[in-house]
Amino acid sequence: MTYYALGLIGHPVKHSLSPAIHNAALTAYGIAGEYRLFDVPEPPNNEPRMTALIDSLRAGIITGLNVTIPHKQVVLSYLDKLTLAAQSIGAVNTIYQIGDRLVGDNTDAPGFLKPLESYTHRLKDDKAALIIGAGGAARAVTYALNQQGWKLTISARRLPQAQELADSLAKLQLVQESETDPGQYSDDRHAIRVVALDNIQRVMEWTRVDLVVNTTPIGMTPHEDANPWPDGCNLPHGAIIYDLVYNPPETALLHAAKAAGLECIGGLDMLIEQAALAFECWTGLDAPREAMRKAASEQLH
Ligand code: NAP
Repeated sequence: MTYYALGLIGHPVKHSLSPAIHNAALTAYGIAGEYRLFDVPEPPNNEPRMTALIDSLRAGIITGLNVTIPHKQVVLSYLDKLTLAAQSIGAVNTIYQIGDRLVGDNTDAPGFLKPLESYTHRLKDDKAALIIGAGGAARAVTYALNQQGWKLTISARRLPQAQELADSLAKLQLVQESETDPGQYSDDRHAIRVVALDNIQRVMEWTRVDLVVNTTPIGMTPHEDANPWPDGCNLPHGAIIYDLVYNPPETALLHAAKAAGLECIGGLDMLIEQAALAFECWTGLDAPREAMRKAASEQLH
């Protein structure tokens, strides 16, 4: 019988909910295994520990790994193959083995989209989203939305960071289209706007906003009162508000959105979905999402 030796590489990792989520999934199936935390020091001191863990994967001592901050980019160079999502985002959050090859995947992008599906059927084709933040999670979110044809505005406190993300996405889309339809694309259609966080209210002057996504840690425990949306500025009328922060489950942003009668999605939905997709990569089994969610919720209370 297969023993599933799973785990998470990151730093720091001690507050991660992943062991509770994945161990609950293993228990729900009654399969042997354990999900452990592997604290790997920040680069450049990560090399010996990272190499040892990757060697354990190749030797089959470890079955599969998740990867989190600050190793999501660093780990790319240790792997044999990347999925299209991982390659496009430039980050890996899940590693599994196919034959003798180590594959790096990114389940954050589909994990983000899944909870959104039940809210977007009412939207027209020219859907427009405003993403707050331009870090690692924003890369997965913008890639996912861009692939689904959303018009995007990225808002960050450091404008060059937002611009770099917008440029890399536009370039990626140009490459994809030039491969499928050479000569039939134009730069203009791929324009992704960027705006300084201080000026976020100006976005609603130039575009309708159907979706706001907070990808910053603003509002996370122990700063529950903090809100990335500026004081005194109305949230966009009729928009879906999606906060990637999952602790607390209802952030100040979501609380304000609910009070304004807007539809809300919390970060726990994405956390469970990205974990469920990783579990399915490792085991080939349908992830027991309800058991995984229950275990995460218990940790948060
Ligand atoms: P990250 O790579 O460090 O990026 C964070 C982004 O937020 C950066 O653009 C950063 O700007 C910005 N930011 C941080 N503090 C800010 C502040 N006070 N004001 C304005 N901007 C600020 O982190 P990440 O991996 O993207 O994670 C971000 C959040 O998403 C975390 O809370 C994480 O737990 C959550 N997350 C949730 C899920 C899920 O499954 N629900 C998945 C991934 C991430 P600077 O670069 O200028 O600091």
